Amino acid sequence: MTTSPDGSVVNEIGCRATVLRLWDYLDHALADSQRLEVDQHLRDCSACAEHFGFARAFLDALPASWPRPIDTEPLRRRVVERLREVGFSLP
Ligand SMILES: [Zn+2]
Repeated sequence: MTTSPDGSVVNEIGCRATVLRLWDYLDHALADSQRLEVDQHLRDCSACAEHFGFARAFLDALPASWPRPIDTEPLRRRVVERLREVGFSLP
Protein backbone atom coordinates (compact mmCIF):
# COMPACT_ATOMS: atom_id res chain seq x y z
CA MET A 1 0.00 0.00 0.00
CA THR A 2 1.00 3.59 -0.55
CA THR A 3 -0.50 6.97 0.15
CA SER A 4 -2.04 9.17 -2.53
CA PRO A 5 -1.44 12.94 -2.68
CA ASP A 6 -4.73 13.52 -0.84
CA GLY A 7 -3.64 11.29 2.01
CA SER A 8 -5.80 8.26 1.25
CA VAL A 9 -4.28 4.81 1.21
CA VAL A 10 -3.92 3.23 -2.23
CA ASN A 11 -3.34 -0.45 -2.84
CA GLU A 12 -0.45 -1.21 -5.13
CA ILE A 13 -1.49 -3.17 -8.18
CA GLY A 14 0.59 -4.84 -10.85
CA CYS A 15 0.83 -4.34 -14.59
CA ARG A 16 -1.74 -7.03 -15.40
CA ALA A 17 -4.37 -5.61 -13.04
CA THR A 18 -3.66 -2.14 -14.40
CA VAL A 19 -4.01 -3.12 -18.05
CA LEU A 20 -7.23 -5.01 -17.31
CA ARG A 21 -8.69 -1.70 -16.12
CA LEU A 22 -7.46 0.23 -19.18
CA TRP A 23 -10.75 0.80 -21.01
CA ASP A 24 -12.82 1.36 -17.90
CA TYR A 25 -10.20 3.87 -16.77
CA LEU A 26 -10.32 5.73 -20.08
CA ASP A 27 -14.14 5.60 -20.01
CA HIS A 28 -14.13 7.08 -16.47
CA ALA A 29 -16.03 3.98 -15.37
CA LEU A 30 -13.82 2.93 -12.45
CA ALA A 31 -14.66 3.41 -8.82
CA ASP A 32 -12.54 6.12 -7.21
CA SER A 33 -10.44 3.61 -5.29
CA GLN A 34 -9.67 1.62 -8.45
CA ARG A 35 -8.85 4.78 -10.41
CA LEU A 36 -6.42 5.87 -7.69
CA GLU A 37 -4.72 2.46 -7.85
CA VAL A 38 -4.30 2.83 -11.61
CA ASP A 39 -3.07 6.42 -11.25
CA GLN A 40 -0.50 5.28 -8.69
CA HIS A 41 0.69 2.45 -10.91
CA LEU A 42 0.97 4.76 -13.94
CA ARG A 43 3.17 7.13 -11.92
CA ASP A 44 5.53 4.28 -11.10
CA CYS A 45 5.49 2.21 -14.31
CA SER A 46 6.60 3.80 -17.55
CA ALA A 47 5.59 0.74 -19.61
CA CYS A 48 1.96 0.94 -18.51
CA ALA A 49 1.98 4.73 -18.75
CA GLU A 50 3.12 4.43 -22.36
CA HIS A 51 0.47 1.77 -23.06
CA PHE A 52 -2.28 3.97 -21.58
CA GLY A 53 -0.95 6.99 -23.46
CA PHE A 54 -1.19 5.12 -26.74
CA ALA A 55 -4.76 3.96 -25.99
CA ARG A 56 -5.80 7.49 -25.05
CA ALA A 57 -4.26 8.90 -28.25
CA PHE A 58 -6.04 6.19 -30.26
CA LEU A 59 -9.41 7.11 -28.75
CA ASP A 60 -8.76 10.80 -29.32
CA ALA A 61 -7.94 10.13 -33.00
CA LEU A 62 -11.09 8.09 -33.73
CA PRO A 63 -13.54 10.95 -34.24
CA ALA A 64 -11.26 12.55 -36.84
CA SER A 65 -11.23 9.33 -38.85
CA TRP A 66 -15.02 8.87 -38.97
CA PRO A 67 -16.65 9.78 -42.25
CA ARG A 68 -18.37 13.12 -42.23
CA PRO A 69 -22.12 13.10 -42.65
CA ILE A 70 -23.02 13.37 -46.31
CA ASP A 71 -26.14 14.70 -47.95
CA THR A 72 -27.84 11.62 -49.40
CA GLU A 73 -30.93 13.46 -50.62
CA PRO A 74 -29.61 14.23 -54.15
CA LEU A 75 -28.70 10.54 -54.58
CA ARG A 76 -32.13 9.46 -53.31
CA ARG A 77 -33.85 11.81 -55.79
CA ARG A 78 -31.79 10.44 -58.73
CA VAL A 79 -32.54 6.84 -57.77
CA VAL A 80 -36.28 7.52 -57.40
CA GLU A 81 -36.31 9.42 -60.71
CA ARG A 82 -34.57 6.60 -62.52
CA LEU A 83 -36.89 3.97 -61.02
CA ARG A 84 -39.91 5.99 -62.21
CA GLU A 85 -38.38 6.22 -65.70
CA VAL A 86 -38.26 2.45 -65.89
CA GLY A 87 -41.84 2.06 -64.73
CA PHE A 88 -41.83 1.74 -61.00
CA SER A 89 -44.53 3.63 -59.16
CA LEU A 90 -43.11 5.20 -56.06
CA PRO A 91 -44.78 7.36 -53.47
ZN1 LIG B 1 2.91 -1.53 -15.24
